Amino acid sequence: MKVVRSGEHRRHDPPYEVQFGHQVPVNERPERVDAIERALAAAPGTIFVEPTSHGDGPLVAVHDPDLVVHLATVWRDWFAATGERVAIPETFPSASLRDGMGAGRRPTDAVGRLSSWAFDTSTPLVEGTYEAARAAVDVALTATDLVLAGERCAYGLCRPPGHHAPKAAYGGFCFFNNAAIAAQHALDAGARRVTVLDVDYHHGNGTQQIFYGRSEVQFVSLHGDPDRAYPYFTGFDDETGTGPGRGATLNLPLAAGCTDDEYLGVLAQALDAVAAFGPELLVVSLGVDTHGLDPLSDLAVTADAFAPCGRAVGRLAIPTVLVQEGGYHLPSLGATVTAFLTGVAAGLS
Ligand SMILES: [Zn+2]
Repeated sequence: MKVVRSGEHRRHDPPYEVQFGHQVPVNERPERVDAIERALAAAPGTIFVEPTSHGDGPLVAVHDPDLVVHLATVWRDWFAATGERVAIPETFPSASLRDGMGAGRRPTDAVGRLSSWAFDTSTPLVEGTYEAARAAVDVALTATDLVLAGERCAYGLCRPPGHHAPKAAYGGFCFFNNAAIAAQHALDAGARRVTVLDVDYHHGNGTQQIFYGRSEVQFVSLHGDPDRAYPYFTGFDDETGTGPGRGATLNLPLAAGCTDDEYLGVLAQALDAVAAFGPELLVVSLGVDTHGLDPLSDLAVTADAFAPCGRAVGRLAIPTVLVQEGGYHLPSLGATVTAFLTGVAAGLS
């Protein structure tokens, strides 16, 4: 399989994140890519490809252009204002703050600006974050181009990940929504129906928000029940889309302790829905933090599940772009990603 990857991700390397009020080691770190690359380099049939630059067009086809400007400029302004090299917001603008007062203005000061676009404390910005996030977008777009040009499948080793980023905010380790940008790119290239299948442990709130009112993009997600799992406010099973998009969103929340068999059963349900939608292209948000050993997971899914999951996706026989999302257990990360990708390739053949 062709694997698109870029060394630019290393420019996003924060020294810590803030979780539950504490400074903790960063989960989403460069060693993740090293582990995946090492495993894929040893897998038969892997061909590494460098991304090509796609400019701003595909990015602003999905995201608010002001978010792009914000992420391109805020670290420099924050550093000038605070002298701090790690930019984490101090406050968050709850909608209730301005209840009955209209949306108000966005602050121009760097500290206020940071708060107004972010939604958590676990997504620090550092000096090279913007360049890394832009490279991840090009990785996803280049993988999509390969499939649009006739490859049955291609994998974009995106870092930072993307699925938590909605149109006009960032958080959950994500800055730009690589999977959503890939899906929109395929539509703009002529695809009439595209599905984003999100198998990350966490709900892909950003992707859902971007396509919630659209009929030509189906969003299907299996994830830890938001009653207990990040991002908490989205991913309930009664969220099914709105307006023309009604019925095009399917959320399948998972119970804690979900086993391999249970997971494969829910995945089969998800894949039936994808087949019924009949997309011309499938984008898989490939998070492998479903693994029971992952520090962010509370499922009981084992390493054995990833190859059959990939095979089931491949058997849909739909041209498939896979983009990397989460997965934080470094000792198993390379093997689980490789097993899933190998399964997809086998299922497609
Ligand atoms: Zn995740």
